[in-house]
Amino acid sequence: MRVVLKHYRKVLLILSLIGLITHHSKAQVEPDFVVTPIAKNIYSIVSPSFGLPNPENKGWNSNSHFIVTEEGVLLFDTGSSESIGHRIKKAITTITDQPVRWVVNSHSHADHWLGNAAFTDTVIEIITSNQALTTMKQDGQPSLEFYSRVTKGTIGTTQLVYPTHLLDQNKKRNFGGVAIEFIFSNDGHSPGDLLMWLPQQKIIFGGDVLSSDWMPVITGHGNVPNLINTLNHIAELKPAIVLTGHGSATTARSVKRDADLLSSVWNQVKEDYADNKDSDETLLNVKTRLEPIYGSLYKDFAAEIERHVKLMYKLQQ
Ligand SMILES: [Zn+2]
Repeated sequence: MRVVLKHYRKVLLILSLIGLITHHSKAQVEPDFVVTPIAKNIYSIVSPSFGLPNPENKGWNSNSHFIVTEEGVLLFDTGSSESIGHRIKKAITTITDQPVRWVVNSHSHADHWLGNAAFTDTVIEIITSNQALTTMKQDGQPSLEFYSRVTKGTIGTTQLVYPTHLLDQNKKRNFGGVAIEFIFSNDGHSPGDLLMWLPQQKIIFGGDVLSSDWMPVITGHGNVPNLINTLNHIAELKPAIVLTGHGSATTARSVKRDADLLSSVWNQVKEDYADNKDSDETLLNVKTRLEPIYGSLYKDFAAEIERHVKLMYKLQQ
């Protein structure tokens, strides 16, 4: 448990270093919880804060997206706490009177599912993967305590509500007339990540597997080769719109860019590790080669590439 928490803190620390901000000018529902139309019946609620949960953002640092169907709303990710879940719920009511019938939790990181408790009155299924649920059960309580501490209690109290419906492989389903395909990243970002593909609208809901302004978020309990394969697969689907777990929406081009970058770095690290070179040497090599190509395409490239090389080195061991 301590190892997982330690790792999680590290991820959060890294996220804190990248403190982004996206601003949207759409009609304001209530401070910050702005609903942005994406396509017919599809909406995003994008957090203006990308970094660590803190007293200012009250723990709200991740995005939620929702689809209004003929039989209710499907909500993809519920935020970092019960009170954030309630804010999301309220924002949804400005668009539709339909209740949230289905929740999908993209993965086990606390900022994507701790809001589940806000939807128990209407929801009929909370969907995730087997592996994500196992990780939620390990990390849920310590994450609650951690979030409460770093937000100085402003995140409020949260009841842990676990998913009720588990997937163990890619699956096609229909929700109130909307065709949806669940895609496994095979642990690309974290154990059991789920993506959601809408083949008719050509929209992909990426959770933290897909990024926009920042380099892809790799973690100590993710699988980098599988993440690269997933990014290539998603790019081949040619999504018109790519929705992310943090930051703004993007397009297929940036998914391909991320796959190419990650695979260059991963291959270099693998080769150098086999040659007994140390990570500083690899970092210098990778920076010299890739900064001219990618330096201007990502926020905070220098710090991020260093984190990637160091973490990928550890993953070789
Ligand atoms: Zn995550």
